[in-house]
Amino acid sequence: MTEPTSPITQDVLTVPRKLPEGGKLNLVGLTREELRAALIAAGTPEKQAKMRVGQVWQWIYHWGVRDFSEMTNLAKDYRALLDANFEIALPEVVTCQVSMDGTRKYLLRIAGGHEVEAVYIPEENRGTLCISSQVGCTLTCSFCHTGTQKLVRNLTAGEIVGQVMVARDDLGEWPKPGAPKDETRLISNVVLMGMGEPLYNFENVRNAMKVVMDGEGLTLSRRRITLSTSGIVPEIARTAEEIGCLLAISFHATTDEVRDKLVPVNKKWNIATLLDTLRDYPRLSNSERITFEYVMLKGVNDSDDDARRLIKLIRGIPAKINLIPFNEWPGSPYQRSDWERIEAFADIVYKAGYAAPIRTPRGEDIMAACGQLKSATERARKSKAEIAAEAGQ
Ligand code: SAH
Ligand code: SF4
Repeated sequence: MTEPTSPITQDVLTVPRKLPEGGKLNLVGLTREELRAALIAAGTPEKQAKMRVGQVWQWIYHWGVRDFSEMTNLAKDYRALLDANFEIALPEVVTCQVSMDGTRKYLLRIAGGHEVEAVYIPEENRGTLCISSQVGCTLTCSFCHTGTQKLVRNLTAGEIVGQVMVARDDLGEWPKPGAPKDETRLISNVVLMGMGEPLYNFENVRNAMKVVMDGEGLTLSRRRITLSTSGIVPEIARTAEEIGCLLAISFHATTDEVRDKLVPVNKKWNIATLLDTLRDYPRLSNSERITFEYVMLKGVNDSDDDARRLIKLIRGIPAKINLIPFNEWPGSPYQRSDWERIEAFADIVYKAGYAAPIRTPRGEDIMAACGQLKSATERARKSKAEIAAEAGQ
């Protein structure tokens, strides 16, 4: 059996990027401190900086304004100064596909012509936006479509925040001046579960989440943001300390032998090391339970023994287990476990005292379900043989 040959360290291809036309700095995705520095550098007097940051911030993130001329509480010459130096730029929506179940998948074009996807999943009393953190992913989990994409670059903080903003545009969710405040939120939750490994793009993800969580703009609380990681151990404590959002772990296996194949980064930080780190997370972030994501692969990780081992491993960690029926993609080397098997697995976990929801696949008809994301037009793709070799088959 061939061992997986996946890179287990960060191996991001640097893609040259041109500054936007005219070299204007994009304000989207700057933290308050960065915005302050940028406004001062453009000539805003220091004394006024705090007030200006507040005003511009509110226009961009509360009202969703894209044009400085609409910032009507600013003097005309200050608007002109902003316009001469800055822009409010978002990813371009190439397509928006709508699934039979109402799920919406956005294909977005970002600087350099690269593409990422974001997915909006409406539910009864809430709506979740699943966003990407990288173009592609350097990790090559053998069941994940994104991992078959060769070209990788980190998204900027602006490109991450921009996904939330374009989804709000599409859903018509910006407040209307003068209209009564509408408390129902279409995007009530954000999950970093799209393309990419968020903890290999830590600073940009953190800064983007700071903007999203800010009390005066998009105002999503940290408890409504879930970051999913394959287990980048050195960054997990930082996630608690510097972001404080909820954490989901792509666990997927109960022995190192199987996890090495499914999630190759396990060779660097194995199950024991990962679990040790997780024991500290809720305490550090004052957070709720950790979600253990577990993809159900027929005959690979779905036995009763696996379920029992899983319970033993996570003992002592406040947790819930999210069972994800495997979503197939062209050339995928696995099959979804049978429904009865998934239910039997869920039952064992549930009886041990853990919530064990089975994630309903959403948006499968438009390839928007977990692990199916990949920019279809991205040419540099791995061959079937490479995928099979990485899966150890
Ligand atoms: N890179 C991060 C976040 C993106 S993946 C991570 O791995 O956690 C989001 C979730 O979808 C992960 O739990 C991932 O393991 C799961 N996933 C990937 N491919 C899948 C597939 N084909 N079917 C079902 N779930 C999949
Ligand atoms: Fe990357 Fe996550 Fe897919 Fe693994 S599951 S290849 S870490 S996006």
